[in-house]
Amino acid sequence: MLKQRILNEFNFKKQAEELGVSVWQTPSFLFIVMGVVIVAAIFGVYVASKHYNSPEIVIISESSVVALLFTIGNFIISTVESVAKANKMKTEFVSIASHQLKTPISEMRWEMELLKSKYSSGLSEKQLEIINEVAHSGEKMGRLVNDLLDTARIDQGSLALAKDNINLRDMIDELVQSQKALANASNVELVVSFDEGDFNIVADKRRISVVLDNLISNAIKYIGKSGMVEIILERKDDLVQVCIRDNGVGIPRSEQARIGEKFFRSNNPIKNKTDGTGLGLYIAKNIVEQSGGSLWFKSIENVGSEFYFTLPISKKVKKLLHC
Ligand code: ADP
Repeated sequence: MLKQRILNEFNFKKQAEELGVSVWQTPSFLFIVMGVVIVAAIFGVYVASKHYNSPEIVIISESSVVALLFTIGNFIISTVESVAKANKMKTEFVSIASHQLKTPISEMRWEMELLKSKYSSGLSEKQLEIINEVAHSGEKMGRLVNDLLDTARIDQGSLALAKDNINLRDMIDELVQSQKALANASNVELVVSFDEGDFNIVADKRRISVVLDNLISNAIKYIGKSGMVEIILERKDDLVQVCIRDNGVGIPRSEQARIGEKFFRSNNPIKNKTDGTGLGLYIAKNIVEQSGGSLWFKSIENVGSEFYFTLPISKKVKKLLHC
């Protein structure tokens, strides 16, 4: 691991590609140049002060070194600035493009629904099949655009969360019902278990449902051939804790540190057979953390995964519990 990190530090070409700058502009390269200059400068000043017994020469050589270091420091700052600007522009571009795509995709989906519900009698089986496929692709595009919009909002720090009263128990029940068809088609048994009592929280209803939906559908998606997904809801002091446990393909240990990074998809055996963007967990983690909770996981390759998240119990309920 350490060896790999050190090698990566010295792979200037890779760093330049990742940052979109030239090799001589990469911070690691410039830091090394700076180090070499400092060592050479110390040596140079030492030699100058030994050979020339004149304070002017020492001052001039020291000033030249300071000027050189100042120039290199400036290069580093301007590289970081240009990378930050490019990153900001990219986020704005994604946000604008996703907004523009949202309306035509919604129209397309709405028209497909209209075609199916009102005019399907005149269509052949093949035509209906094609319409269903287009509608399915429209749904996928809609989800992707929503994910891109949420990602851009998170990156810009503008993901606004509503404050709704949520009964987490009811929400999980509803979501499990809506995932039943997918679970059956994937040969997955869905099991739910709750602690006694209510699970009332104050958070953004739509977005917490996105978090749950993402974690449950991932557990089903990465199960392999068949298996079981358990959803466990518990109370832990002032928090509610949800655990989604599966006995699926798991996540290779070497890749676990990168799970939750934007666009990262682990290289598990069914990656290529499943749809995905690597944005779901990034968005889920940010929503949970912004709602005052935390999200983490444990996973063993070929054994399964457990994804956990916590959220604070609503203040009203807390008062009742402490009465
Ligand atoms: P994706 O759209 O790829 O599912 P996510 O952000 O939801 O994106 O998940 C990121 C990656 O984490 C997935 O590509 C997968 O490799 C891994 N992953 C997430 N949940 C599970 C799980 N329950 N079992 C195994 N791997 C998982």
